[in-house]
Amino acid sequence: MKITKTQHPKQKPDFSKLGFGKYFTDHMLVMDYENGAWKEPEIVPYAPFEMDPSTTVLHYGQGIFEGLKAYKNAEGKITLFRPRDNLIRMNNSARRLCMPELDVDSMLQAMKELVLLEQDWIPTEPGTALYLRPTMVGTAAELGVHPSSKYRFYIILSPVGAYYATGLKPTRILIEEHFVRAPLGGTGEAKCMGNYAASLLAGNVAKEKGYEQVLWLDAKEHKYVEEVGAMNMFFVIDGVVKTPALVGSILPGITRNSVLQILRKEGMPCEETRVSVDEIVKAYEEGRLTEAFGSGTAAVISPVGVLGYQGKDLVINGNEMGPITSYLYDKLTGIQYGREKDEYGWIVALN
Ligand SMILES: *Cc1c(COP(=O)(O)O)cnc(C)c1O
Repeated sequence: MKITKTQHPKQKPDFSKLGFGKYFTDHMLVMDYENGAWKEPEIVPYAPFEMDPSTTVLHYGQGIFEGLKAYKNAEGKITLFRPRDNLIRMNNSARRLCMPELDVDSMLQAMKELVLLEQDWIPTEPGTALYLRPTMVGTAAELGVHPSSKYRFYIILSPVGAYYATGLKPTRILIEEHFVRAPLGGTGEAKCMGNYAASLLAGNVAKEKGYEQVLWLDAKEHKYVEEVGAMNMFFVIDGVVKTPALVGSILPGITRNSVLQILRKEGMPCEETRVSVDEIVKAYEEGRLTEAFGSGTAAVISPVGVLGYQGKDLVINGNEMGPITSYLYDKLTGIQYGREKDEYGWIVALN
């Protein structure tokens, strides 16, 4: 792979005050698609793109992305968490948006080279990581609603701290009764840009009411819970860990899948099923809803302390992180940071 190194390395930020997605490394990977084929990927200095104002993605949102993390432990060992799964999911998103697929093996190789080149940017403080954002956009300069004839795939890297400013404090989430995220047959299963633009207004309204995020309900009946902005959801009801089944409108999270694999391996009762908001409220009222948490790459596991619904707050487990949530957080981060043995084949070592 051709690598052009920067002549102006950036000053690194204070790794103890990173926040999420605010700083970017010195280099990025770029690969263009033209005349029906991908060209060779290249690593180049991180810099703005120049785009014609008529570029497809700027009008019709033909864009998809992924998110995954690289870790460096105290001995300097660098790893990625399930990177192949992200590339496979990116190809699923690409098919949904009529975009070209990537070659998973060669892209994984290129991704590894990029992370190794930027290894000094991987923070080692607890809870920190190097976030990778593979992205693909339609780049043909032509108005007219049809799939773009040209694409750019790129990977940018950002050293990140804990996703939520409040750390592992339980979050306040509003069950959204008016707006919806994705109907069946829509693009909910794809990690595509438009899904997020469409979710912002509900998020703003929730914030005005004192909640951090919204929990989406199904678009047809507004009855079944689906997921939160960038997290899948789990509810512990009668000791069973329940998560909404992947019906087609929910993003198939890799962290979600990891949680399910851990629960199954440990013999802890879990179900992928339909979870109605009525069931949640009833279980809460009868004291059978003991925990709720979200799962996603950015926050890993995020306890939910309050669910707002129809003007009332359901306070879960006294607004404290519960034992199953805490167990899963420790287990998953243990595997990711190399403190625990990876019995699942999730960790890909780079050095
Ligand atoms: C990315 C994302 C998730 C979480 O997926 P992970 O693979 O676990 O990071 C969940 N829901 C939505 C809508 C997302 O965009």
